[in-house]
Amino acid sequence: MAIPLIVHGAAGRMGTRILALAAQDPATFRIVAGVDRQAGSLRDLGVASDAPLLAALPVERGAVVVDFSHPACFAALCAHCATHDMGVVSGTTGIEPAALEQALAAASARSAVLAAPNMSVGVNVVFQIAARIARTLGLDYDIEVVEAHHNQKKDAPSGTALGITDAICAATGRTRSDLVNGREGQVGARRKGEIGVHALRMGDVVGDHTAYFVGHGERITLGHVAHSRDIFAQGALRAAAFIGRAKPGRYTMADVLGL
Ligand code: NAD
Repeated sequence: MAIPLIVHGAAGRMGTRILALAAQDPATFRIVAGVDRQAGSLRDLGVASDAPLLAALPVERGAVVVDFSHPACFAALCAHCATHDMGVVSGTTGIEPAALEQALAAASARSAVLAAPNMSVGVNVVFQIAARIARTLGLDYDIEVVEAHHNQKKDAPSGTALGITDAICAATGRTRSDLVNGREGQVGARRKGEIGVHALRMGDVVGDHTAYFVGHGERITLGHVAHSRDIFAQGALRAAAFIGRAKPGRYTMADVLGL
């Protein structure tokens, strides 16, 4: 049976692509509605579906809400889904870590939930490889992460850059307090173990991430370049198909992709 799908942030760059791809796969997804700030029709967004565009989340037991909107919506969205037995797949970035944990922990008692800073298959492989490289090299190698995105992106550093540094931190006993965001002025010599994170904002870049692991005499460069937003949209729909059939609980992209 097709999974009932609701896309929150439907009129955005990501929401529109997720709806367009879901509309091409009616065997897997039944689009219930898009949700954004203004109501209307999905056809106005160029999506081949007669489902409505609503200004508030509807109630549809068993549906999966795919959220690519704004960090401020996340807690209420999770509470709504837990109350009405709906699954959550959120790609929204910039959510404060403690608020993210709290909302996911509360909702996962009743609903299947997944939040991931990057839903592309390739990037999730990069997370795992970055962790393995950092664990193997140890603290004698300096790690710096550089990301680039389009000039409309609101948060920095990107959720994906933080996904890379979180994976490295978890593998090497570091925390986000070891991150240094950009450097300016008389910052002194580099502290052993710190991880530099740097954000470029330019033109229409979809998403570039490079992690440098640099020792005395050698350098490893691990990079990912997104050519199209569809890699995230396809990953989000894979996650929605997984969450739509999962028991209540908390899941990761590694669960979805079998990594
Ligand atoms: P966007 O600005 O194009 O779209 C966001 C949409 O959310 C807009 O249509 C906006 O009107 C809507 N919105 C905002 N507040 C809302 C509210 N209170 N209720 C309903 N709708 C609301 O942004 P985008 O490029 O589509 O990105 C959206 C989010 O997804 C960002 O946080 C971005 O960083 C993230 N993102 C994640 C991934 C991933 O793989 N996890 C990939 C790309 C983007």
